[in-house]
Order: sequence, then C-alpha cells, then structure tokens
Amino acid sequence: MAAAALTGLTLAAAREKLRAREIGAVELTHAHLEAMAAARDLNAFVLETPERALEMAAAAGRRLKAGEALPLDGLPIAVKDLFATDGVRTTACSRILDDFTPTYESTVTAKLWAAGAVMLGKVNMDEFAMGSANITSAFGPVKNPWRAKSGPSAGKDLVPGGSSGGSAAAVAARLALAATGTDTGGSIRQPAAFCGVAGIKPTYGRCSRWGIVAFASSLDQAGPIARTVEDCALMLGAMAGHDPKDSTSIDVAVPDYTAALKRGVKGLRVGIPKEYRVDGMPPAIDALWRQGAGWLAAEGAEIVEVSLPLSKYALPVYYIVAPAEASSNLARYDGIRYGLRVPGEDLVDTYEKTRAAGFGAEVRRRIMIGTYVLSAGYYDAYYLRAQKVRARIAADFRAAYEKCDVLLAPATPSAAFALGEKQDDPIAMYLNDVFTVPASLAGLPAMALPAGLSPEGLPLGLQLVGRAFDEETVFAAAAALERAAGFTAVP
Ligand code: GLN
Repeated sequence: MAAAALTGLTLAAAREKLRAREIGAVELTHAHLEAMAAARDLNAFVLETPERALEMAAAAGRRLKAGEALPLDGLPIAVKDLFATDGVRTTACSRILDDFTPTYESTVTAKLWAAGAVMLGKVNMDEFAMGSANITSAFGPVKNPWRAKSGPSAGKDLVPGGSSGGSAAAVAARLALAATGTDTGGSIRQPAAFCGVAGIKPTYGRCSRWGIVAFASSLDQAGPIARTVEDCALMLGAMAGHDPKDSTSIDVAVPDYTAALKRGVKGLRVGIPKEYRVDGMPPAIDALWRQGAGWLAAEGAEIVEVSLPLSKYALPVYYIVAPAEASSNLARYDGIRYGLRVPGEDLVDTYEKTRAAGFGAEVRRRIMIGTYVLSAGYYDAYYLRAQKVRARIAADFRAAYEKCDVLLAPATPSAAFALGEKQDDPIAMYLNDVFTVPASLAGLPAMALPAGLSPEGLPLGLQLVGRAFDEETVFAAAAALERAAGFTAVP
C-alpha cells in the first residue's frame, strides 16, 4: 500500500488490515514517520522517537505474524508531552522541566504499550496544559492543518486549539492514527473540534492520572483523540481502568466501548441545555446544534429541553479552582528536584530565579491567581465559594439526568481562529471553554466529534455529555451523530 493510503486509514481499519496481514506493522509505522518528517512545519511533535517506534513496530509485527495480536498491536500513536515516558524526555512543554527524562512510565501510556501500540513521539501542548490555542508552549505554537477558505482568517495560520493542540493537529494531519490527550477544562474536546477530529474526556476517575504531570488534580483526566468515534472507543478501552497508584481512580469494570457503537439511539432521551444558547454564538454553530438534535430525533431519540441554571458560573468557578490547584501542584518546581536550575545567592533566590526563568507568562498568571484565591484573607470569598458553586453545578447535571440520558451541546463557541488572535486577552481566551468546563467541574464523560463545516470551511464540533461512568451512552449517541453527519472533509 502507498504511504499516503496507510496514513489515511482509521485506527480501526489499520487494525483490521494488520490482523489480516494485508499491511505490515513496520510499514505502517514507517509511513507515519515519513509523514511526520514532511509536516514538521506544523510543529505538532516536540520529540520524534523513530528508533523506539520501529522497534515497537517490529515486535508487534512478530506477534501479529504469530497470530498473537494484542488489542492495539502495531498501531502508531502520538503521546501528549504531559505523560511521563520512561527514558523519553517529558517537558509539559515548559522550560522549567528543561530536558527532564523520567525513569518511570505513566499508567495510561504503559497500558497502551502493553496493548501493543507504537509510540511515534511526544506532541506539543500548552505549557502545563494551560491554554486553549497551543500558543503557551515553550516549543512555540502548533499550526492547525486546516485553513479558512474565506472570512477574516482566510489564508492565515490557525490555532489547533489547546491544550492538546499537538495531539489534535497530528491526528488531523494524518501523522498519527490517534493520540493521547488530557482534559482539565476542555483540552481534549476543544482542540478536537478545532481540528475536525473526535476526542473523549472520560469520567473523572476512569483513567489513572499516575505519571501525568499534574495541572488541577480534581479535574485532570486523560483520554484519546482520534479520527472516528470507533477509534476513540478502541483507544479508551486500552487507556481506562483502575490503578491502585492513583487514589482517585475508580475500581469499576471497563466495558467494551466498541459494543456500544451499534446500540443506536432509539428511545434515548437527549437533553438540550437551554442555558447553553449563549449570546453571540455564531449562527452556524447554533444551526449545527439544531441539526444534531434533528439527526438524533430521526434515529428515534427523544429530544427534551433541560436546564443547567448554574452553568453560567462554570467559567468563573473553573478559573478559581483550576489555578488554585495549579499553584499548589506547581510548587514542586523549585530548581532543586527537577529540570531547570538558575543558581541564586541563596536557596530562596534560587527558587525565585528558577521559577521566573522557567515558567511562561500564562503559568505565572495562574500561579498568582491561585495563590491569591487560596490566601488566608480570600480563601472563603473565592476558593470556598467556588467549591460550593461547583457542587451545585454537579447537582444541576444530576437533576438534568432525571429527564434525559445524555446532553447535546456545541463543543466550542467558534471555529478555529487565527494564530495571534486573542493572544493578549486572557479573558477572551478563557471564553473558549464555555461549553466544555461545566462537564469538567462535574467530572462527567464528554465527547466532541466533527459534525459540519463553518461558512469559512472550518470544522465545527458537537459535544455529548453523559452520566458518570456512562461513556457507553455517549459513544452510542456519538456513533449515531457521526453516521448522520457523514463528515468526510479533510484539511
Ligand atoms: N483551556 C483551559 C485552560 O486553559 C482548559 C485546559 C485543559 O483542559 N487542560 O485551563
């Protein structure tokens, strides 16, 4: 098979062809390594690991030949640089981690390798996963492989979304069959939507956080970004599961998510949260949302309006809770234990100089906000209040799920915007997360999938949010939407 045909396969199709011995694992990995080399201007990869990839592919090839295939045997994937990879530089795309090379492997990536997947390399992201445009990375911005055909950003380089911008760009540009991502407030769903690919943030506790560089520990979750709903189901099946090393990972069985894809949506109650009709939403996104409801109704789902009244506070709550936890998690980067050290006159001076040189502007902003809202005088007014509202937001979702089984909403309030836009306006940047943050605060599974194009020819995503640990319903509805949308556009 020609290299372009190999990289054009879905993960599921490549899996079948490897098993049928129509293609070889080494050949498949080679094709991706070549595509990566040809697309370096996207800046999606911050580290390519070709030797390791070819070794892993060769081992997979031997298993496939012997008829002892593992679930993801021989499938080349990219890893967000937030996952610790044993012997492979892991930086969270921050200068402060310098060329930190872990001596351990994150649980999620260990599970993927145990399932036979092949590591192509580490992909770019916003520094410490803070951002919505992949512009805060110490390695520079990632370019979205899509381009607008018309409108104000026509011809310009676009952002891929963030923080998992390298993951989404690599998958959209056919440099990897799938990628790992993490989502604290939307970092899987928003870049997936901006790049015309699918991604799921599972229920908080579904995937182990062990070995993933911490941002906001009560929100962080790992999940896959891939080109189809089925590919996400295959990936999540391998990534999920209880881990005694993460006390917030939950000991519940991981179902076969691919089985849910065939369920259909007959009789499924799909909730439309009325408060999500925000002012200034582009008409194309509103139209796609209605269209999505129409598609599900045509397949036998019942569409019901539901209310999530406190969702309007989700963004301010998130931008208190997440920086608070980040300021605490990032205290460990002191110039002594990991990565960068800028020697000072004494210990405190070393801390200050190292942190000033090592953290970028957005990370410093979050540390300052977090430290402020946790400080003695403001803890009750900000942090505690935010936690109370967070609990009420979760209660809103529980009430909504008495009337419906899954929620349908847009994934983002806009299509991908031009690189450089919103750069100097943190609030405008935070507004990108308006549709993704509520499910994060409530710990619920949520999936974004491409469903249409904007008038400028850019991908737009829809989002499904399910009950806790009910990823299966999310997958069932997503598969139905994917079939109806028939999204075949490529960058
Ligand atoms: N864009 C959000 C933020 O900047 C979400 C990031 C994420 O989910 N990691 O915090």
